[in-house]
Amino acid sequence: MSRVYNFSAGPAVLPEEVLQEAAAEMLDYQGTGMSVMEMSHRSKAYQRIIDEAEADLRELMNIPDNYKVLFLQGGAHQQFAMVPMNLMKNGVADYIITGQWAKRAWQEAQKYGKANAIASSVDKTFSYIPDCSDLPISEDADYVYICENNTIYGTKFWDLPNTKGKTLVADVSSCFLSEPVDVSKYGIIYGGAQKNIGPAGVVIVIIREDLISEDVLPGTPTMLQYKTHADNGSMYNTPPAYGIYVCGKVFKWLKKQGGLAAMKEYNERKAKILYDFLDQSKMFRGTVEKKDRSLMNVPFVTGDKDLDAKFVKEAEAAGFVNLKGHRSVGGMRASIYNAMPIEGVRKLVEFMQEFEKNNG
Ligand SMILES: *Cc1c(COP(=O)(O)O)cnc(C)c1O
Repeated sequence: MSRVYNFSAGPAVLPEEVLQEAAAEMLDYQGTGMSVMEMSHRSKAYQRIIDEAEADLRELMNIPDNYKVLFLQGGAHQQFAMVPMNLMKNGVADYIITGQWAKRAWQEAQKYGKANAIASSVDKTFSYIPDCSDLPISEDADYVYICENNTIYGTKFWDLPNTKGKTLVADVSSCFLSEPVDVSKYGIIYGGAQKNIGPAGVVIVIIREDLISEDVLPGTPTMLQYKTHADNGSMYNTPPAYGIYVCGKVFKWLKKQGGLAAMKEYNERKAKILYDFLDQSKMFRGTVEKKDRSLMNVPFVTGDKDLDAKFVKEAEAAGFVNLKGHRSVGGMRASIYNAMPIEGVRKLVEFMQEFEKNNG
């Protein structure tokens, strides 16, 4: 067996221990004589799996009792529609456009009501987070929407926007569980699992209870109502059962690492190694404003497309894979999620130093 260092933005690296445990339980989950993949979601064994996953997530994030945790499907993209369909009581929402995913969410919301772009960083290719301390929040906005960590561009909101009392909705797909978070500041926190948590196919929604109601836009399908899932413990229909099981294992792994404060510290150490190198390199440079740098996704360029391509190719041959930047921006991007070991980042930097020496 030979494992690579996988810098993919998602689906992405998972903790090796979690994969090994899942492998060991593949044919016989804890004496049930079957795989979790073969198990009824209505069985006692599965109920325990989903209950423990929720309890561990609540403990990790210190989720207040007046929030529901939902394990859904449809990816982050489905939330782009579910959020407005469930929350647009006045038919108005404010969006802060800091990248492609925020833009997609904003465009989707326009189908359902008046979605205002109240700030944007498109003028500098989304390389920074706009000042959100005093934005023109709409009087009747049902919510203010952000993408908290911009996976493609490598920026992160280090200060949440001043929503002037309006409900904050955040897509945290690529920074989920990377640091402690004060859940009470948000109405909804959601993210796809395939970036920093588990396999693709699960999206986790943490939603304040007062935002869950039957009062949704006319025509909202049963499956797209938060209430349907909240009333049925995420099991109105068959949930993404195996994915939730793996997410549950990752939650236990995170607890073993010391929880989210320890993860943040580890993530800061990892990111610093790469950013420090980029800041002194004569060949490579980071592409975003320093104050807005993400700890999870680190885009960088040489400034020469052919050299970028050569780097990506040689890196892959050396066992550092998926370093090519998003097709919309080019260059390189190293996604260094929770499960990326610090050795992976150290060795990547050593490889970059070698590359710089040989191609300078
Ligand atoms: C990957 C990503 C998405 C899209 O996720 P899907 O699960 O493919 O719909 C949305 N938002 C962010 C921040 C992402 O990183």
